[in-house]
Amino acid sequence: MARYTEAKCKLCRREGMKLFLKGERCYSSSCAMDRRPYGPGQHGRRRGRKPSDYKLQLREKQKVRSIYGVLEKQFVLYFKEANRQTGATGENLFNLLEKRLDNVIYRMGFAPSRSSARQLIRHKHVTVEGVGCDIPSRQVRVGQTVAIRTKSHNIPQIVASLKDNAKRDRLPFVEADEKKLTGKLLTEPQLTDLPIPIQENLIVELYSK
Ligand code: SF4
Repeated sequence: MARYTEAKCKLCRREGMKLFLKGERCYSSSCAMDRRPYGPGQHGRRRGRKPSDYKLQLREKQKVRSIYGVLEKQFVLYFKEANRQTGATGENLFNLLEKRLDNVIYRMGFAPSRSSARQLIRHKHVTVEGVGCDIPSRQVRVGQTVAIRTKSHNIPQIVASLKDNAKRDRLPFVEADEKKLTGKLLTEPQLTDLPIPIQENLIVELYSK
């Protein structure tokens, strides 16, 4: 499966904000955004001209792709599906992204990052409604129970993630039991619940051209 393999901190520096892509490191003094809070590369410190509308739209879309770790082709499919559904396209898009199984595992605090959650899922450490699932993009429905298999409870990345949970934002649409390593999606995720500011209208404008 195709995936982004370059340095993740570059993505944060390009967007000018912490996107929390590397788990524990993001909360430490080693975070690249704390040490080098300017764009990556030779021209990173250069102050550019006022960005065009297109650039703002493109950057917002790239930021969201980076946050959820979704490649362009798959992101376009999410947008088409969001557009097909009733309601506001931007809200629908985030609803679909937030309900991905890898994101739900991350939001429950069982993995330090979404990429780590994807690895746990592919290595068959995760169940949905008691049945093993190795598809990170699977949509979790409201009320479904997601769990880490009992034999996997001592995996170092899970233990480390649980330790760091106090530093992370708790979102109202998920509940998690950190002892049993099970959790549920309580309600439909809302854009206003997300800890990182996102202008979904820019993404809708970009793809509506
Ligand atoms: Fe972004 Fe985390 Fe890297 Fe900091 S450590 S720049 S928040 S990925």
